[in-house]
Amino acid sequence: MRLLLIEDDDRIAGPLTEGLGRYGFTVDHVRTGSAGIVGADGSPDLVLLDLGLPDMDGLDVCRSLRARSAVPIIMITARGEEADRIVGLELGADDYLAKPFGVRELVARIRAVTRRTSGALPFPAPAHQAAPEAPGPQLLGSLELNRRTRQVHLSGAEVQLTPREFDLLAYLAEDPGTVYSRQQIMDTVWDPHFFGPTKTLDAHVAALRRKLGDPAWITTARGVGFRLTVPGHDPEPGVAGCPDAS
Ligand code: CA
Repeated sequence: MRLLLIEDDDRIAGPLTEGLGRYGFTVDHVRTGSAGIVGADGSPDLVLLDLGLPDMDGLDVCRSLRARSAVPIIMITARGEEADRIVGLELGADDYLAKPFGVRELVARIRAVTRRTSGALPFPAPAHQAAPEAPGPQLLGSLELNRRTRQVHLSGAEVQLTPREFDLLAYLAEDPGTVYSRQQIMDTVWDPHFFGPTKTLDAHVAALRRKLGDPAWITTARGVGFRLTVPGHDPEPGVAGCPDAS
């Protein structure tokens, strides 16, 4: 697996390249944002992007990379760059890691992001549960969600979602109307052992609401989590034609 590391600080890039090499990753290292954008044309499997770069804002690099390809992006940020992290996730980065971090932690994030963005289930499923996906797209009012092609159409027009935004929408759409807790969502859409602040979830929900053109698609169950609601339709659960025989 080939990684593109965009990081100007050799004291970080050196040990990182060496450490990732021990895990079997090949690392192409560049020190500027512009070199990173050029390097991304070489189709790396994943980009590690430092936000504090000498020649351009890391967020602009993120935007530029995302405009060109769906390559998974993990941002590397310094402490105190929380606002930047949220903006970066909205721009389409898949995850972030705050300095300082260990190589093992980074490798875990790389694997988690790769599993998600390759369209695989977030964690291994038993073989007998293979191919649980419905073959056709799921229709939710004016929204069409196709898990096989990972495409979303709204009133016939394709909506461009990042891999994580798609996973989040697809998860909530598994049972429209049902409230999924923040932890359930983090465990399923992010990582089975996600820990730490879940502001990234709010950023993704905000991005989805914006892209779907109506905040009513995802409603907040205050203090609990979120649910998918088809705007204009009765969100009440329990009317899905499953009579209780008792
Ligand atoms: Ca830097």
